[in-house]
Amino acid sequence: MEPSESEPNATSPSNQSGLTRRTILAGLGASALLSTAAASSLMSRAQSAAQALTPPTTKENTMPFTLPNLPYAENALEPSIDQKTMNIHRTKHHQAYVDNLNKALEGQAEYGKWTLDEICTQIGSIPETIRPVVRNNGGGHWNHSFFWQIMAPKGSGGAPSAELTAAIDKAFGGLDAFKQAFADAGMKRFGSGWAWLVKKGDGSLAIGSTPNQDNPLMKGFVDVVGRPLLAVDVWEHAYYLNYQNRRADYLAAWWNVVNWNEVNTRFAQA
Ligand code: MN
Repeated sequence: MEPSESEPNATSPSNQSGLTRRTILAGLGASALLSTAAASSLMSRAQSAAQALTPPTTKENTMPFTLPNLPYAENALEPSIDQKTMNIHRTKHHQAYVDNLNKALEGQAEYGKWTLDEICTQIGSIPETIRPVVRNNGGGHWNHSFFWQIMAPKGSGGAPSAELTAAIDKAFGGLDAFKQAFADAGMKRFGSGWAWLVKKGDGSLAIGSTPNQDNPLMKGFVDVVGRPLLAVDVWEHAYYLNYQNRRADYLAAWWNVVNWNEVNTRFAQA
């Protein structure tokens, strides 16, 4: 693994964005006339450009997997989610899923080439010897990469589109009823896991929850199957520092930082 591929800090450009530090440096190497200051400035501007891009989708994500950047500042979701929780959640918990997934797939000629989506949708094809660790950590990486994207600072996440609103009305009888049912799914998940809103194969919406780091892509392994549109992490590590045992308070405050614009896009695409 090259050093440029393994810098899991918030300031490194995303390796999935198509503008990696390595390509930037390669470009700089070809420009022998650039002064150090100019190179530094170009590097800085290229990094800003990379970070301004839409966050990476998990689709293109292949080995070695890397920690994605947040599409907002670490403290941008306060007071719903505090900066320390965001920091530990991403740089410790999410990073561990990434590291353990890479470790599990190291030397696996075939499975080591799979995208993160493929790992989740075809988890049943992964040999049983490594399946549990790939399921937990592949799911963990997918779920958290998704989670960061479907949140946004309060006031900037927009609202459900007309199309999504119509689908929510049809499935749940209104936005408030949907929010209640979604929060219930999170509250009733015993222990650790996730609540989900998915678009099923027939285009309709469904709510469900999964244990541990399972997700709705893992057909045959979970109760709720479909393309995820929205998810909330109900592991204690997602809220315990700020909310202690008060999962209901966390879930209530979390609606303030839902990125409906992203949910709308995923609904239109799914
Ligand atoms: Mn988590």
